[in-house]
Amino acid sequence: MAIDGSKIIHAVMEGSRIRESKGIIPLFGVYLSLFSVHYYNRLSFDFERKLGPARRAEAASLLVKAAQECGYATFQGIRNSWEWGEIVEPMIDRKEDQIRGFVAVAVAFGWGDLKIQELVPEEFLGIRVDDSYEARGHIAHYGIAETGKCYMLSGVAGAFMDLLYGEDYPDGPFTFRAEEPHCRAKGDDYCEFAVRRS
Ligand SMILES: [Zn+2]
Repeated sequence: MAIDGSKIIHAVMEGSRIRESKGIIPLFGVYLSLFSVHYYNRLSFDFERKLGPARRAEAASLLVKAAQECGYATFQGIRNSWEWGEIVEPMIDRKEDQIRGFVAVAVAFGWGDLKIQELVPEEFLGIRVDDSYEARGHIAHYGIAETGKCYMLSGVAGAFMDLLYGEDYPDGPFTFRAEEPHCRAKGDDYCEFAVRRS
């Protein structure tokens, strides 16, 4: 059975009605919250600016690594959750379907319209996103960029491959690394993430 993303989106919509007193949403084995993308973008892009042009690459690398480490732990929690076992697991036929499940959960969380373009087991993952909030936010508040700006999505794409083909959790992070050859923040039509072994 193929992964049915709409089933996962419905489960997230249904489940996200339950909030703790502080607004935390306990779902898929992790703690979620509604978060302003503008605020998150400002944290990332202002951090990058504060470090200055000479340290831009270092800032970008730190932001991607933070997202990758977070994505690694978050999706490990998700794939071990009760909801995953009930909703996603029955749709998984082979190992690679897990990544299709991860992508469907990320879409349901509102992280972007991620689409898998290519998946070569053990080696390569290609993901395309037409409407990244990072690219959109960068253009709106900082203008057109010279390099890819979707640090969160880059890190998360790397984490998906780490979880499948890296060492067993928790020893697998940064086995893979994502590059973003195309980004809407640079004026491209879409963002593209190419994940390979690092
Ligand atoms: Zn982008």
